[in-house]
Amino acid sequence: MGTLSLAEIQEKLLDGSLTCRKIVDTYLSRIEASKHLNAYVEVYTEEVIRQADILDGKIKNKRTELGRLFGCVFSVKDMIVLENHGVTAGSRILEGFKSRFTATCLQRMLDEDAIVIGRTNCDEFGMGSANLHSHYGSVGNAVDPERVSGGSSGGAAVSVQAGTCLVALGTDTGGSVRQPAAMTGTFGFKPTYGMVSRYGLIAYASSFDQLGVIAGRAEDVDRVMDVVSSVDPHDGTMLQRGLYGSQLTEKKETYRLAWFPEAVESDGIDDEVRDRFSSFRAYLSRQGHTVEPVGFDLLDYLVPCYYILTTAEASSNLSRYDGVRYGYRSKEAKNINDLYVMSRSEGFGSEVKKRIMLGSFVLSEGYYDAYFSKAQKVRTLVRNRLQEIFGGFDFIVLPTSPVAAWKKSDKADNPLSEYMADIYTVLASLAGMPAISVPSGNNSGGLPLGIQLIAPAGSDKKLVGFCKDITDWHNI
Ligand code: GLN
Repeated sequence: MGTLSLAEIQEKLLDGSLTCRKIVDTYLSRIEASKHLNAYVEVYTEEVIRQADILDGKIKNKRTELGRLFGCVFSVKDMIVLENHGVTAGSRILEGFKSRFTATCLQRMLDEDAIVIGRTNCDEFGMGSANLHSHYGSVGNAVDPERVSGGSSGGAAVSVQAGTCLVALGTDTGGSVRQPAAMTGTFGFKPTYGMVSRYGLIAYASSFDQLGVIAGRAEDVDRVMDVVSSVDPHDGTMLQRGLYGSQLTEKKETYRLAWFPEAVESDGIDDEVRDRFSSFRAYLSRQGHTVEPVGFDLLDYLVPCYYILTTAEASSNLSRYDGVRYGYRSKEAKNINDLYVMSRSEGFGSEVKKRIMLGSFVLSEGYYDAYFSKAQKVRTLVRNRLQEIFGGFDFIVLPTSPVAAWKKSDKADNPLSEYMADIYTVLASLAGMPAISVPSGNNSGGLPLGIQLIAPAGSDKKLVGFCKDITDWHNI
């Protein structure tokens, strides 16, 4: 079952050789067996079994009424809300909070008969690249639990890596589904900004946040995207046209791909990542595609620009957690001012506090022009430059991460090096363009590596379609 695609699972469910109950029993026992990885914050055991039995009844009796995702068991990141269920964004500040509604993307999955198995661990409010900043502790990589899972959707990626569900819903602000996907040998897709409703996604940086999908197969990413990308009046930033299911998918024999020599010449990139990336380019050329180097001189500005803008947005988004309206409230406070200060001081972790401070600083009167508005201009430059490149190319290829999963203790005293690990993923986020991480085999230490492909806005389906054909490129 571990390697079956959704289409194969559905075929078996229809011919009676598999039942939903059998599927969820298997997943639940794998969750139990992989508990030490700490991928889940909560498992919906009873509800999952009940849903599986209902679906089995439906399959037996009325096959025609089945939703498009029947048999798809998925996990959901602890930043996507489900009615009457707890959700905390990996933070103490949302302790005890229950959502009164369901996120649109999650509802669309349920409406199509998918079953949600539990909520997965993540960096607090999505802030991190290693899942080391969660109130619930770190998530271990299934290949080596002493190593990180990537972040911030580390639990989501490991939930797929450890075979505890078919698909995981995560969120991606600057690489949070692509980077953990690379570190766990799975596919991680971030759509064009506005392709999926953000209603019910806990906000980190609203002009960057998008739902992301992690799966073992590109075709399953495609199936899920077809369902979750649909108009939602609750999200004013959603695209009204060109949604995933309506995008043209005409297949070309050969594609044109650009790559940036500057991106792989820097010191920070691991030799094996560089080698794998060059084998990938050679593979693409052998397949008849055109792969050309292109100059890109904005590389050094990506990470600073991303962190200025996202911390600014986060400092504003997170001001709503005041100890009054949601979750955690300090018990010691004697007056309303203390209540705000103490609830936030006790409720937020140190990474979040650092970013709120940084964000407030770059938005402050004296520094607004020097940092925030300058970063916005750089963001426009980045988008324009990519658009210019896409005038002559279908996709841009890059490694997903400059390094493989590191030891949990490795970057603890060097937060900047954790930020720098985002260098390749923040590019598509700054530009609002779709990007996917494709599994690319393991390094000599047995750790998974990923390759990233970026497409112009609105070419999501073409990008995922291309990935379906290169799934096993590293075995050829
Ligand atoms: N690592 C990046 C950050 O910490 C990206 C996180 C994300 O995409 N949510 O901001």
